[in-house]
Amino acid sequence: MALTVAQDITPAPPEDAMPHIRGARNDAFSFWKLPENWRATVSSMIESSEELAEHFLFERYLPEAQRRPPAGIGAYYRIKRLIPESLRHRAHSLAVRTRARQGFPNWPCESALIDFWREWLRTCLELVNTRQAWHIAFWPDAKRCCIVLTHDVESPIGLKRIDAMADMEERYGFRSAWNLPLAQFPIDWNHLAGLQARGFEFGAHGLSHDGRLFRSAADFRHLRPLLERAADEHRLTGFRAPSTLRRADWIARMAFDHDSSFSDTDPYEPQPGGTCSIFPFHLGRIIELPYTMPQDHTLINLLHRDPLQIWTLKAQWIAACGGMVLLLTHPDYSGSGCRLEQYDELLKRLADFEGAWRALPSEVAAWWRRRSAMQLWVDNDIPHIDAADTAGGVAVRLDSEALTLRR
Ligand SMILES: [Zn+2]
Repeated sequence: MALTVAQDITPAPPEDAMPHIRGARNDAFSFWKLPENWRATVSSMIESSEELAEHFLFERYLPEAQRRPPAGIGAYYRIKRLIPESLRHRAHSLAVRTRARQGFPNWPCESALIDFWREWLRTCLELVNTRQAWHIAFWPDAKRCCIVLTHDVESPIGLKRIDAMADMEERYGFRSAWNLPLAQFPIDWNHLAGLQARGFEFGAHGLSHDGRLFRSAADFRHLRPLLERAADEHRLTGFRAPSTLRRADWIARMAFDHDSSFSDTDPYEPQPGGTCSIFPFHLGRIIELPYTMPQDHTLINLLHRDPLQIWTLKAQWIAACGGMVLLLTHPDYSGSGCRLEQYDELLKRLADFEGAWRALPSEVAAWWRRRSAMQLWVDNDIPHIDAADTAGGVAVRLDSEALTLRR
């Protein structure tokens, strides 16, 4: 879309720094969950690694003005309703394809952060003078990778199509999460309760797609409590910002358990960027679950590409790294006709991924918190995990870990 990017001089809300909670760190030692016996030896490396990791995770490689919604976005949303959808897609498509693309992060795969994790580990092993070691596996019960299906519902048409997609997912043994704008159109919560009973979950997709939530400090102060109250009323613990327009430090202090407003790499959103992460991480007190698969809307309407081909390629790459395949599709675009058939084929392929943990966003967030609180101790080459709750925690040899195997 044609947006004028101007400097936004809106000050941040009062509490300025990213809130940190105990044990919730993004340093490399916490990422790998290495033996606590090593901590003192590599302490200087641990400290510096967090700043480097967060350079990617909080999109700090972007100029500050690009880590927030573009200034012209408000004007766009005011006229959006007046433009027919097909014309809007054509205009977006043209704008996106002619926009000078930043070279970083690469799309659809960017390995900068996982290269850093691997390089850090290599240096760490040298420092403790060992070639082999234990760590706490990335996923519960040492599953090989993780698959999470999420959807944003954009309109009443999308809402009507939930059932067909959910039935399809269930047939392959998947459950998924559906994010809803809470004040944009009427929602039949009784109907959704039936889906909840079958194991699906729901999250908040803002109040509406008007680009206002993170536009200015005043908007945020006004809208945040309304959104949090609406989410709480329906016990929604997950969040994804409408159009993924976002501010990391503001999301970090919202009253949600987990967020999925960031991608690993997505140069095609109105606010382009990416965390380069195919694993969850800590965003203040929130667990961030970046979506790691290109969006259906991007592939179909903006790039005019065959989604199945790119989805398969990306999912295989993530699985080979032992990461999290987190899909974001919209029933509005993928919930009927040949698009639904393609989605069926994708589910079939994902269902064949061996040793994958199929999880809901809330389950992944709970796991990542639990894993973060675990401590690994190794005595005489016998690993032992120490924590109040060790459920799912398994110590595995680093040389059996997909992320260290992959070159
Ligand atoms: Zn949306």
